Amino acid sequence: MSRVINFSSGPATLPEAVLRQAAADMLDWRGSGMSVMEMSHRGPEFTDILANTHTLVRDLLGVPDDYAVLFMQGGAIAQNAILPMNLIAKTGVADYVVSGVWSEKSMKEAGKYGQVNIAASSSDNGFLSMPLQDTWQLSSHASYVHMCSNETIGGVECHWTPQTGDIPLVADMSSNIMSAPIDLQRYGVIYAGAQKNMGPSGVTLVIVRRDLLGHALPFTPSAFNYQLQDDQSSMYNTPPTYAIYIMGLVLQHIKQQGGLLAMQTQNQGKADLLYDYLDHSRLFFNKVHRADRSRMNVTFFLRDESLNDAFLQGAEKEGMVQLRGHRSAGGMRASIYNAMPWVHVQRLRDYMHGFEKAHT
Ligand SMILES: *Cc1c(COP(=O)(O)O)cnc(C)c1O
Repeated sequence: MSRVINFSSGPATLPEAVLRQAAADMLDWRGSGMSVMEMSHRGPEFTDILANTHTLVRDLLGVPDDYAVLFMQGGAIAQNAILPMNLIAKTGVADYVVSGVWSEKSMKEAGKYGQVNIAASSSDNGFLSMPLQDTWQLSSHASYVHMCSNETIGGVECHWTPQTGDIPLVADMSSNIMSAPIDLQRYGVIYAGAQKNMGPSGVTLVIVRRDLLGHALPFTPSAFNYQLQDDQSSMYNTPPTYAIYIMGLVLQHIKQQGGLLAMQTQNQGKADLLYDYLDHSRLFFNKVHRADRSRMNVTFFLRDESLNDAFLQGAEKEGMVQLRGHRSAGGMRASIYNAMPWVHVQRLRDYMHGFEKAHT
């Protein structure tokens, strides 16, 4: 068996220890005689697994009791609709900060459910920065303000917690959740698909301050009603049981390594390794404003784009895959989430350095 070094943006590489544990549990989870996939979601075994994953989410992110932790389906893209369905009705208006492809998509979808204002946008500079707080023009009566904490495609991350006064702050954290501690109580809602930093696709983590519940639009599908899912402990419908189990293993693994502070240190170290190199390279460069560079998705370009294919083929020969940038962005992207070991990032940097020497 040989595993590649997988720089995929998501679904993304998982900790090897987690995959080994899942393999060991595959046919018989802890003497139950069943695979986790075969368990009733209401049986005692899965009830344990769900409670364990739930507790780990609360521990790692510091989620207090007045917030609901929901395990939903449909990914972050479904949340683009589910969130306004649940929250916008309070005033009928929501503010959106647009910093890239994902937050723009969120903003457009929300427009189906109410009045949407663009409070700030970095589209003028091609989404190469996070709009500064003092450029945000918030409506006085918005039900919430939505932002994306890490734009996975552009490689733009918000490294500060926005101030929105009494208006609840909502963040799509799909691609940087669990990468560093956050001040959870400054948010009304955070949500994230699991497949970047927490597990396989299929489960979406939604954390909602409970005072925001109870405003769902009347046509909100019951399975997507936050209040109903909170009342039923994410069991209104069958939850994505196997994905929740793997998420639990991933979170346990994070905890064993020292939690989110340890993740932050590791992630900063890995990102610095690449950005320091990029800033001194004659062949490669990164376009994102320095203060807003993502620690999770490092985007870069070759000054001579005719070398792109040779670069990717050479990387593949060394076992490094999924470095091509998103089709809408071009160039390259190395996604280096929690589960990407430092030595593998170093391997990429060494390969880039060698490639640069050979081609300049
Ligand atoms: C991947 C991603 C999405 C889309 O997730 P789906 O699971 O395809 O719905 C949305 N937002 C961000 C920030 C992402 O990284």
